[in-house]
Amino acid sequence: MKKHIRIYKQILRLRCKPNITTLEKEMICRCKSIRNIAKKIKIPQHDLPATIVGGIYNRSYKIDECKDLIEPIAEPLKIRLLNLGSIGSDNGVNKIGRCAENLTANYLMLFKKAKKIEDIEFTKAYRPRTARVIKRCDNCINIFGEHGI
Ligand SMILES: [Zn+2]
Repeated sequence: MKKHIRIYKQILRLRCKPNITTLEKEMICRCKSIRNIAKKIKIPQHDLPATIVGGIYNRSYKIDECKDLIEPIAEPLKIRLLNLGSIGSDNGVNKIGRCAENLTANYLMLFKKAKKIEDIEFTKAYRPRTARVIKRCDNCINIFGEHGI
C-alpha cells in the first residue's frame, strides 16, 4: 500500500511540475510497470520495447520507445536524419530514425511546438527488460548531441 502511495505521489509530482529529475524517476517506474504488465498478460520478453526515452519541452513531456519513425516528421529533425542517410535505412550504426529519441523529439516538435531540437531535454535511455541505462548511439549523438551536454 505504502508503495502505491509513493508511486502515486511521484506521478502527481510529474503532472504538476515535470522536470528532468521527476521524469527520470518516472522512467524507472515505467520500466517496472512495463515488466509487470508483460508478466501479467504473458508477453514474451523479446516483444517488450528495446529502449524507452523521455523528453521535456516547456511543461510538456513525452516518453516513447524505439520503433519505425513515420510521417509526418518535423522538418528540423528530418533534415538531420537525412544528413545520415535515408530514413529507415541502416547506416551501419542503426536504422536511421528508429531510436526512441527520434520518436520522442518528433512528438514534442509536432504536437508541443518545440521549434528546435536543442530545446528538448532528454532523460537517459532505458531498456525496460532490465531497467539498464543504454548509451546514446552515434546516430543520436549526431542529431541530438552527447547526452547531458
Ligand atoms: Zn540512437
